[in-house]
Amino acid sequence: MMLIIINNVLTFVGLSGVLSTIIVIADYFLANYGDCKIDINGKREITVKGGSSLLTSLAEKDIFVSSACGGRGTCGLCKVKGIDGCGPLLPTEKPYMSPKELEEGIRLSCQVKVKRDLKIEIPESIFSIRKYKSVVTAIEDYTYDIKRIEFKLIEPNEITFKAGQYVQLESKRYGKVRQPVMRAYSVSSNPSHTDYIELIIRKVPEGIMTTFTHDHLKEKDEISFTGPFGDFYIRDTGTDMFFVAGGSGMAPFKGMLEELNEKKSKRRIVFFFGARTTKDLFLLEGMKRFEEEMHDFKFIPILSHPEPNDGWDGLTGYIPPYFEEHLRDPKNTEGYLCGNPGLLNASEKRMRELGIEDVYYDSFG
Ligand SMILES: Cc1cc2nc3c(=O)[nH]c(=O)nc-3n(C[C@H](O)[C@H](O)[C@H](O)COP(=O)(O)OP(=O)(O)OC[C@H]3O[C@@H](n4cnc5c(N)ncnc54)[C@H](O)[C@@H]3O)c2cc1C
Repeated sequence: MMLIIINNVLTFVGLSGVLSTIIVIADYFLANYGDCKIDINGKREITVKGGSSLLTSLAEKDIFVSSACGGRGTCGLCKVKGIDGCGPLLPTEKPYMSPKELEEGIRLSCQVKVKRDLKIEIPESIFSIRKYKSVVTAIEDYTYDIKRIEFKLIEPNEITFKAGQYVQLESKRYGKVRQPVMRAYSVSSNPSHTDYIELIIRKVPEGIMTTFTHDHLKEKDEISFTGPFGDFYIRDTGTDMFFVAGGSGMAPFKGMLEELNEKKSKRRIVFFFGARTTKDLFLLEGMKRFEEEMHDFKFIPILSHPEPNDGWDGLTGYIPPYFEEHLRDPKNTEGYLCGNPGLLNASEKRMRELGIEDVYYDSFG
């Protein structure tokens, strides 16, 4: 009896799977949604060919909504306000929405398919995001798995961004990877250099983009990116600042520090930097120079797994327990965090416990 039930259930699940696959394929090949109009902010109207995601349709008209995962529905960044025609909220969108966003009709533009005329609202600042053509002018090894890559702008030949913001790099086809992908990378150069940007990229095992940047990209290659995106930038408040990063999470802080140094900032800054072993440390000379040149800057590297032959006599373990001894006035301190979600969550939690209210972050996960 039990076997018959299991057999029936499996048959049902199998049939449902086959049917939904047929529907998706039929929708892809047979559905013709014709031209669809998208009304944006009640001020502009664009006409697109129906059938693609809203994110892609907007990008085809040079309107670049922030999306760190390249439209896979995993970063939750490509939010727009759906006023009309966006269809029901999908289960893939719900986890990324706060109750307030659900109430306001916020949607993930990568999950909304354009099938009819739409009305949406997006921040006006999105219209200043551009697609840039650039050429790779330098590739430098920072560690065994982290590279600094410099891109000189070709068209447009200048970019305006805030230190801390990120761009979306577009890969090219290589090996078995037939489709270019887009991934987010924080700009690590000083915004006062408007004719190039620099990125700090860590190789992720089996990662599509980072295999491209580390194993295939060469100097003189032409590469496109869009940007700038994001609201991870220094608030102009004059408070003390705690910077926290791990690995390539160093990127936005390098740009911020170069800018703060150039502007002779008087703010007190403590930078807690996490790495596994001494092999994962980089830019130590640069940080030392900032300590010498800046008004009140301290760089604190902390190793989580120092090896016996590292000869490391600095701090070890997790980063958050070290905040307290460097904290003077929590009400007059802002936290800026960048890197993997584990480090960010633990750091934000500890900062809140210590009474730091203003915490800003860019999570790489
Ligand atoms: C705002 C922001 C800023 C960022 N800035 C930086 C930065 O400055 N520097 C930096 O190094 N990174 C940064 N990142 C991370 C970056 O965007 C990429 O996520 C990262 O480089 C990995 O990209 P990838 O294409 O190489 O990996 P992906 O191909 O996306 O793979 C990521 C992981 O998923 C696994 N995976 C992939 N496909 C599958 C599958 N089908 N099944 C199971 N597992 C799979 C891979 O093995 C890998 O471990 C940032 C992220 C965000 C959101």
